[in-house]
Amino acid sequence: MDLGVLLQALIPSWNSVLVLVIFFAYLAVAGSILPGKLVPGVTLQDGSRLHYRCNGLLALLLLVGLLGVGSKMNFVSPTVISDRGLELFSTTFIFSFLVSCCQFPDRSCSKGSSLEPHITGNLIHDWWYGIQLNPQFMGIDLKFFFVRAGMMGWLLINLSILAKSVQDGSLSQSMILYQLFCAIYILDYFVHEEYMTSTWDIIAERLGFMLVFGDLVWIPFTFSIQACNNDLEKKYQQVALGWWLLNQKVELTMAAAIANCFVFLIGYLVFRGANKQKHIFKQNPKALIWGKPPKVIGGKLLASGYWGIARHSNYLGDLLLALSFSLPCGISSPIPYFYPIYLFILLVWRERRDEARCAEKYKDIWAEYRRLVPWRIFPYLY
Ligand code: NDP
Repeated sequence: MDLGVLLQALIPSWNSVLVLVIFFAYLAVAGSILPGKLVPGVTLQDGSRLHYRCNGLLALLLLVGLLGVGSKMNFVSPTVISDRGLELFSTTFIFSFLVSCCQFPDRSCSKGSSLEPHITGNLIHDWWYGIQLNPQFMGIDLKFFFVRAGMMGWLLINLSILAKSVQDGSLSQSMILYQLFCAIYILDYFVHEEYMTSTWDIIAERLGFMLVFGDLVWIPFTFSIQACNNDLEKKYQQVALGWWLLNQKVELTMAAAIANCFVFLIGYLVFRGANKQKHIFKQNPKALIWGKPPKVIGGKLLASGYWGIARHSNYLGDLLLALSFSLPCGISSPIPYFYPIYLFILLVWRERRDEARCAEKYKDIWAEYRRLVPWRIFPYLY
């Protein structure tokens, strides 16, 4: 691979800066003015609660619609992202770096749990993990904003790759499956955006480089690798970040395609079902689970439905989904399996962290839950 070509493709251009600025500006305006359910976040340590306007689905559909009309009228190229993949990648990376360097808590106003600065004095630590729980910019909750931008960015990258493959005449069954699965996953995410308000990242993680980079760079640019080509040199010359299925001919048998759909479906049912059951249970501990009164431990933990089969069964659903996004690429290379492999490591680590947290928080109740439901993630992974 020619390193010079790669480095050249990585240099941010004013065009890539413009694309990013327009995207963020759209999200800021759309997020503030479009109608959406106002969802209260969890109660913070000081008793306060943030409220999140969950209008991500409308904002996304409107954006895709505007881009569609714009490309029909030749205002915008549908392949603008796939043509400038690496430039956009480096521009977003630099933006994430700069944003996390600009953490200047306002010492004059009253803070509360959301804005109270947690400064350890270790610059690297504070930059990496962040200082504030829920920093805001011009009234916009940055954590919610960035995760939304990352998920939408992933879909926009995929759609641009799809447009490129249609343009090249290289649209394949594998590309259609990959695009379909990811689009359903991302749209479903926005349909259920309010569930996001009670996830670990939103309620517990401070906003530092780790989270900004994870949301803005990691999610959109690495989750779309499946669509990548491993012919890196050709790829860098041709389409910057260059996407797998764009240049790779993968012939899936009908049986393989059906099996792939099956993995996606099971993954989706477990992922969505488990997260929904927990969400409903937290709102109303008496709500029926799979048509029956729930089995509840200590009045706080759900031990029926998916949560009665395995602890953190929602992680299994996510893992199956991630696998289903990669299977369309066949098994000739490990590169398209980057996302499921990374997710496996992440979720096994998360499960251990959450297990320790819950054992500490719920004490005997958690011990009872572990006794009743011994499986972790399922099937038992380690
Ligand atoms: P969870 O949504 O699984 O939340 C864990 C919390 O749920 C625990 O801390 C506890 O919180 C509560 N809980 C655990 N067990 C029970 C129970 N039996 N009954 C009632 N409450 C329980 O964790 P995450 O926020 O990590 O994940 C949310 C989703 O996001 C998952 O589906 C995950 O797969 C996905 N995800 C995807 C990633 C990706 O890169 N694709 C990355 C990270 C997550 P409490 O103290 O409130 O009771």
